[in-house]
Amino acid sequence: SSNVSYSNSRALFAENFHRLLSTQNQTRRKLEDKVALITGAASGIGKATASKFISNGAKVIIADIQQPLGQQTAKELGPNASFIECDVTKESDISSAVDFAISKYKQLDIMYNNAGIACRTPPSIVDLDMALFDKVMDINVRGIVAGIKHAARVMIPRGAGSILCTASVTGVMGGMAQHTYSISKCAVIGIVKSMASELCRHGIRVNCISPFAIPTAFVMEEMSEIYADVDAQRHVDIVHNAGVLKGANCEPNDVANAALFLASDNAKYVSGHNLVVDGGFTSFKTLEFPTPDQVQ
Ligand code: NAD
Repeated sequence: SSNVSYSNSRALFAENFHRLLSTQNQTRRKLEDKVALITGAASGIGKATASKFISNGAKVIIADIQQPLGQQTAKELGPNASFIECDVTKESDISSAVDFAISKYKQLDIMYNNAGIACRTPPSIVDLDMALFDKVMDINVRGIVAGIKHAARVMIPRGAGSILCTASVTGVMGGMAQHTYSISKCAVIGIVKSMASELCRHGIRVNCISPFAIPTAFVMEEMSEIYADVDAQRHVDIVHNAGVLKGANCEPNDVANAALFLASDNAKYVSGHNLVVDGGFTSFKTLEFPTPDQVQ
């Protein structure tokens, strides 16, 4: 009957429409012809993001203090990845990395200040190691400021750019890490707001991402020090089990997806934002009333 052929043609139309959409997605990648510089991209979150950016059409410069590993990562990610040795505590290294992007690709569209370290210190402020505090601030805070400074130097004349930083849930709430690391990440969230206030006038967006705990290199190192008697898989399980969202674990790829969004034109009106990727962890605290006999 005519009814049947009508529904058949609708089904055919829907099928073709979806096929058309999916081919368009393949050809119009989110970061086509964009140039990105990512610090701390030899491993972990930075590496996952470099890979994600490349598969979305970008050219990526991996800037990291680890030379053989950074070179190996660039080789692994193919011809659209290159490596430059860079210690974010040296302003001249950051300046050179930005200049390298310009000389190789003539532009810098995305600067992702991701390099950072954790540290183990006694938990009390009374025992704070001020030398270690300075060292962590040098990398996690000063390194980010210098990264934004030099990215802005080349982005302001073009009147465009997207700057990203890796903060952390430990910068959103107190009590999730020892003071030194927590303070450094709290500063990153503040830096983003301060920088966004100036750079918006130049069409440059500045945002950060705050991931939950992920078993990357430095976290695994810490876990093996705390729980020396169990194997690496157990360390991964311990980190994953700290999350609150059932059925999912926080992975480098989750941060890479957030970075892709913030770097791309999909986030063209998003600036000064801290995108928290924590499965809801820092959004709530479960309230449990004491039973009458527990009340003092
Ligand atoms: P990672 O150890 O795998 O990667 C960190 C990278 O930074 C390494 O490749 C390292 O060589 C590089 N790096 C360290 N010091 C540097 C310096 N001075 N100059 C240049 N590069 C340097 O760990 P990751 O988890 O991928 O860490 C990336 C970022 O994510 C860090 O800023 C970290 O604080 C943050 N973060 C991590 C977690 C987590 O649980 N893994 C959670 C929240 C935030």
